[in-house]
Formats: sequence, C-alpha cells, structure tokens
Amino acid sequence: MTDTLQIKDHIRQVPDFPKPGILFYDISTLLAHGAAWRATVDRMADIVGKMRPDKLIGIESRGFLVTAPVAYRLGCGFVMVRKKGKLPGSVIPHNYELEYGTDTVEIQSDAVKPRDRVVVLDDLLATGGTMRAAIELLRKVGAEVLGAAFVIELDFLGGRNRLDVPVSSIVHYD
Ligand code: AMP
Repeated sequence: MTDTLQIKDHIRQVPDFPKPGILFYDISTLLAHGAAWRATVDRMADIVGKMRPDKLIGIESRGFLVTAPVAYRLGCGFVMVRKKGKLPGSVIPHNYELEYGTDTVEIQSDAVKPRDRVVVLDDLLATGGTMRAAIELLRKVGAEVLGAAFVIELDFLGGRNRLDVPVSSIVHYD
C-alpha cells in the first residue's frame, strides 16, 4: 500500500507556472504512476465513501480526473461543475468574485435533484474560492453538500476557513 508520503513523492512542483511567482503542484506525474494513482483513488474513495453520498461533483478540469474513478469505485453518480458555456442544454449558472473581477460556474439543470447528498471533489485547495463557488451553486439547486475532498491542500493559504463543510485532503503542504 502506497502511503501519504509516497503519494506526495509523485506530485511535481513546477516554479513560475502558469506565471512568474506561482508554484504549480502538478498531478500529471501522480496520474502517470499506476500504483501511486491507484493508492490516491483508493484513499479518496475511503474518505468520501464514509459520507455516504448519492452523487459526486467534480470541478473542471483536474477535479474530473479525481472524481470519475472515485464515483466508479463507490457506485455513485458523477456530475460536472464547469466553466460558463461548456455544458449543453439547460444550465444553472452561479457568478462569483475573483481577486480581480468575476467568474461563472454552471451545472446542468437536471443533474442534481433537491436533497441529493453530494460531495464535491477537486485536485487542489488553494484559497478556496473555486470550491466555495461550487458549493454555493449546489445549494442553489437544493443539494445537501456533505463535504469537500481534495488530493492536495495548501495549508498556508487557509482555504478551508472559507468553506462551511467538512474538508478532507490526502496531501498537505504547510
Ligand atoms: P482556489 O480557488 O484558489 O482554491 O484554487 C483552486 C483551483 O485552482 C483548483 O481547481 C486547482 O486546480 C487550481 N490551483 C490553484 N492553485 C494551484 C497551484 N498552486 N497548483 C496547481 N493548481 C492550482
């Protein structure tokens, strides 16, 4: 069994990407390593399964990579929260504030029913703004948000303090 330390060993840190001053935590190397990726999905499935969700929500785009295999393992539905204009048919939008300006996330109108029990997943928790927006959108459609789960959490940014649901992460950087 690959432990947390070994999972961390497969996350590559890329300085100055996508712009100068940003340290990018790249999960490509984790995805490319069969045993480490399987251990990551298994750990996620253990954490998320305990919340007994009906559906898992993945946030575009790396969140999809995490959510799809966990949903498969748990036998849950998988629903996408995407950036504006990417989902076909009737959608429900939610606008949210960025440091400079605003952005919009969307979900298909029929993807989540009122009172569905959902857990929201993403690859990484930084400031928490993205996850917060997804949770607000899910509440707008009447879902019960049981928690948020991440592969990576940047503890020093305090993103979990912006979220009012239980937060779980496999790998931490402080
Ligand atoms: P935030 O809304 O600040 O919590 O940012 C989280 C989202 O941005 C996630 O979907 C991540 O994929 C991405 N992200 C933010 N910061 C980083 C980083 N340093 N390395 C990799 N991805 C990041």
